[in-house]
Amino acid sequence: MKISEVHTHLLDYKLETAFESAATRFTRRQHVLVEIICDDGTTGWGECLGPAQPNAAIVKAYAPNLIGRNPLDTEVLWQGLYNLLRDQGQRGLTMTALSGIDVALWDIKGHHFGVPVSVLLGGRVRDTVKAYATGSFRRDGVDRISDNAEECAAHVAAGFHAVKIKIGFGVEEDLAVIKAVREAIGTHTRLMIDANHGYSIQEAIILGNRAAEFDIDWFEEPVIPEQLDAYRRVRAGQPIPVAGGETWHGRFAFREPLETGCIDIAQPDLCGTGGFSEMRRVVDMAALHGVRVVPHVWGTAVQIAASLQFVSALLPDPPRRNPIEPIFEFDRTHNPFRQAIVTHPIEHENGVIAIPNKPGLGIEINRNALAEFAIGDLE
Ligand SMILES: [Mg+2]
Repeated sequence: MKISEVHTHLLDYKLETAFESAATRFTRRQHVLVEIICDDGTTGWGECLGPAQPNAAIVKAYAPNLIGRNPLDTEVLWQGLYNLLRDQGQRGLTMTALSGIDVALWDIKGHHFGVPVSVLLGGRVRDTVKAYATGSFRRDGVDRISDNAEECAAHVAAGFHAVKIKIGFGVEEDLAVIKAVREAIGTHTRLMIDANHGYSIQEAIILGNRAAEFDIDWFEEPVIPEQLDAYRRVRAGQPIPVAGGETWHGRFAFREPLETGCIDIAQPDLCGTGGFSEMRRVVDMAALHGVRVVPHVWGTAVQIAASLQFVSALLPDPPRRNPIEPIFEFDRTHNPFRQAIVTHPIEHENGVIAIPNKPGLGIEINRNALAEFAIGDLE
């Protein structure tokens, strides 16, 4: 079996109502899928975290080095592509593009051997996972406090055991949102806050100390991810566990945050940190330091399916009889193609997701939906 074609599929949808985090304003939904086809017809799908067109351009730059190669040689191919752009790469788009390719290669490997990727990773520890609802961005034209409270109450009514809200817009307004959301969801629902690196060190420490009374599970990306000393100061200066890692791509990027105590919870993104091949190494490193892993998930059903396969095989840590089970980030923001691109949408039932148990990623692509939302393949 040899790789014969590498394609990118850019998907786009213009939102009727824009929304924003502290870092990004979303007026469109755009994601890029990677399709790798072999000479025997076996096909694999992957997805790259981050902007669609730049990722697609780098996938295209990598592609000539894949043609004619054995897709089962995932480590050999990963290292070859990483070496190709190391001097100008190491993290960012060179890694997110490589991630999409690696995920597609593991999908091929699963189809080739007739087993889910979770089995290739060492076995299914679990067939279901509890989801937490990600949303509560700042939306145009509405009162943020009541809007977030109403949205989170709806997530709880739908069965979610936990919700994550966006902060980083200003300490006083953020505290008002946190208070309103806690009142709306009651005392039994878990609540996480995500600043999308919108705070200064001092703001993050003040916010964390004042928000702690609302029983917060974690404080995500309080400060910009390059400022590792700031992470350590925020962690030491307030009581809420600190989470981060969606922009630390690969083992080299995670090394210092893990070794120097920047975080309590690591959030590598499978489609950003280097695919299945590198995600395994990052998670092993986190385990060395007693850091819990809750993968970051932000994409279409391809990224969701791939992340579910990984979570299925995630070993309990600590390995006690009643372990702390992983939870799964489930994006609830508007994206009409997120699930439309697969023939069997991956949905939650009462806040729990059944992990697909078919070969590869366990999904089948709906090419009509791809065509509907496509903005063309970069050639
Ligand atoms: Mg985040």
